[in-house]
Amino acid sequence: AAKRAGRGAYQFATASMNEAALERLQLEASLRLAIETGALRLEYQPLVELSSGRMIGVEALCRWDHPERGPIPPGVFIPLAEDSGLIESLGRWVLLTATQQLQRWHEAGHAELMMAVNLSARQFQRGVVLEQVEEALVVSGVNPARLELELTESVLLHDGEAVMNTLRQLKALGVTLSIDDFGTGYSSFAYLRRFKFDKIKIDQSFVRDVIDDPDDAAIVRGIISLALSLGLHVLAEGVETEAIAQRLRTLKCTYAQGYHFARPLRPEALAERFLQAPPALS
Ligand code: C2E
Ligand code: MG
Ligand code: MG
Ligand code: MG
Repeated sequence: AAKRAGRGAYQFATASMNEAALERLQLEASLRLAIETGALRLEYQPLVELSSGRMIGVEALCRWDHPERGPIPPGVFIPLAEDSGLIESLGRWVLLTATQQLQRWHEAGHAELMMAVNLSARQFQRGVVLEQVEEALVVSGVNPARLELELTESVLLHDGEAVMNTLRQLKALGVTLSIDDFGTGYSSFAYLRRFKFDKIKIDQSFVRDVIDDPDDAAIVRGIISLALSLGLHVLAEGVETEAIAQRLRTLKCTYAQGYHFARPLRPEALAERFLQAPPALS
């Protein structure tokens, strides 16, 4: 009986694994279609200067509204895109779309606005990222100084000279480079020595409890003072309350992002709330 039960359990596991694999394949096929048919879209979340409350830029965040399943979070479809190689075409689309949107906002009179775009490690590994960024800059005509590229530790994990070279070439284009989710990796600090980034984004897991948890407070304070002494900009992610924003101001954090200021918004909603058109000339 034990053997039968064991075998049954094994068959069950196999069946459910197949189901999971099948489901994954189906989702991958719909994602491919979504990319090809232009069914993805971007939302934009304000990046705020803490001292003035001014919106200095936005981060582009990819959205996928699945025709049957509704919205699929990027935490699900980005890893899927990375594993399947679809991230190359997805990443290219994001860069092109975000820079063209930025150029339209610049032309509408908001010439200082920054656009932050997330890059994935896969885009670096296959060496397409430089080409894609150059293409987006040329096609959009956007000022490179207004484009910010966010990298996570996963990019830098594959340390190699190739990645360092790409980072140097990106920097030579005049774009801003930031480390996303800082503090969550194994060796976030080591990267600061290996490459001169422009900005650190403190991961929201440290920011969330900065008031109640003395350890998180110490970490956030440490990252901010480190950034400032290295001459880097520093942004706190996931700021959900005014009390946290206030604490960050006290700690001399330069920038913040989070639901307290605004959620990620569709471009029309963002423009309506934060980019009222300058008065017409006529
Ligand atoms: P991320 O780059 O760290 O982006 C910030 C995430 O925090 C976003 O989640 C944003 O909606 C969320 N967030 C912002 N403020 C708050 C807050 O106050 N509280 C909380 N709880 N969350 C907040 P989202 O949009 O679900 O994206 C998740 C991750 O997916 C991103 O993390 C990024 O790593 C990845 N991602 C999104 N779009 C792209 C993309 O176009 N390309 C690549 N490679 N990755 C992307
Ligand atoms: Mg990001
Ligand atoms: Mg982040
Ligand atoms: Mg993240």
